[in-house]
This record gives sequence, structure tokens and C-alpha cells, in this order.
Amino acid sequence: SRKPIIAGNWKMNKTVKEAHEFVEAVKDKVPSADLVDSVVAAPFLALDRLVADAKGSDLKISAENVHFENSGAFTGEVSPVMLEDLGVQYAIIGHSERRAMFAETDETVNKKVLASFAHHLIPIVCVGETLDEREGGKWQSVVKNQVTKAFAGVPSDQAADVVVAYEPIWAIGTGKSASSDDANEVCAYIRKTVADLYDETVAAKVRIQYGGSVKPATIGDLLAQSDIDGALVGGASLQPESFLALLEAV
Ligand code: 13P
Repeated sequence: SRKPIIAGNWKMNKTVKEAHEFVEAVKDKVPSADLVDSVVAAPFLALDRLVADAKGSDLKISAENVHFENSGAFTGEVSPVMLEDLGVQYAIIGHSERRAMFAETDETVNKKVLASFAHHLIPIVCVGETLDEREGGKWQSVVKNQVTKAFAGVPSDQAADVVVAYEPIWAIGTGKSASSDDANEVCAYIRKTVADLYDETVAAKVRIQYGGSVKPATIGDLLAQSDIDGALVGGASLQPESFLALLEAV
């Protein structure tokens, strides 16, 4: 059975001081890592401090993005070598905000997934359809295409470690979460896509999160679904009490 993974995605929020205070407030209260992987994804500036703060606790630290090259003339970017050196354990890849505003494509997402594995970072790969795509009956083809391209060239032993975050774009920051049944239908479809790409064994191991207006009050129903293994949470991850309440729902 799959261990749940609950990740906060702070997006462009919190100074280093605020990030440090958050981690100090929660790190000794997160549940055992035997039960759930508890992750905070923070802006690059805070990562060095947060890895040091979280050391020895059950809290894990993620980047919100990573470049696919190790070094070079890529002004403003951060490489997987740099993240590995800090002791960062996860990287969110291809969040819809990055796809929409920062020119991420299925191709850059794939390169970042491969680069993450080369540097011992676990990728949290975001996929999800727009409202138009859902209403046009296209979510299957959109999600299947995103998943297929993200996994290209990933060997099966690593594929099982990929975390996929299903985030319907219309549910992000809108307060309009997908119903747990609808979210589970898509997560099951993502798992089937992985089974078609690899096999049932890999598909049974891949963890699939739902993201989009998840709150402490709604996470329980989502986690009770057969194919939802966790959540990627924006707004409700910003306050220590709320983040801990999400973890306690596991
Ligand atoms: P909200 O939880 O604020 O809707 O954000 C979801 C998200 O984009 C997490 O990556």
C-alpha cells in the first residue's frame, strides 16, 4: 500500500524569516514519516535555512521548481546540483502557474523530471486540465498526454518513485475543489496511464496527489478515495495550524 504524501506549496509567499518560523512551529508536531510524508515546498531563498531547521525531524523540504541543466548561462535559474547539495529532497515540476506564466512545456517538464532523478530529487509532477478542456470533454486526452510526456525516458524503477499531482486548473485558488469522486476518477485514469506506459506493479506504487482548494475540512474525503494518495495544497498550507490539520487527517 502507498504511503500518503501531503505537500504544502507556498508559491511566492513567506520571507526567509517567516519560512523559518513556520518550520520551527511545526517540525516537532508532524506525524511520523512511517505514516505520511510531510513536505513543505518553499521559495529557493529559504531552502538552505529550512533544510537545516527540519534536520532530524519528520518534515521534508521541497523546491517549487528546478532547472534541467547542472550549471551554465541560465540567468535566474537554480540547478538540481544546487538543490541536491543543500539536502533538498523533492522538487515540484510543471505547476500550472509555471506552465501558464513561465513557458514550461511538456518537454521542459520531462527534462526536469530526468534531471531530478539524476540528482536524487523526487519529482512532484503537476498535471491537470483547464475548465474549457473539462467542459469540452477533453480531460482524458489532456492528462494522458501530460503524463505520457512527463514520464518519457524514465526507467521503471524510478517511475515508481514519481509523485504525480493532479491539479485541475479551475480548482486552484478558486475555493472550488473538484468533488472527491471526480478527483478520484482522474487519479485512477492517471494510474491506468502509468500502467499502460509501464505495468501494473509500477502503477500500483506511483503516488498520486490531488490539488486545488484542498482544506482541512475536505482532505479526509479525498484521502478516503481509492486512487488519491495525498494532496498538494496552496492556501491552506500557509498557516502552521492549518498545515498540521491537513497532516492529522491522514
Ligand atoms: P490552492 O490550494 O491554494 O488552491 O492551490 C493549489 C495548488 O496550486 C497547489 O500547488
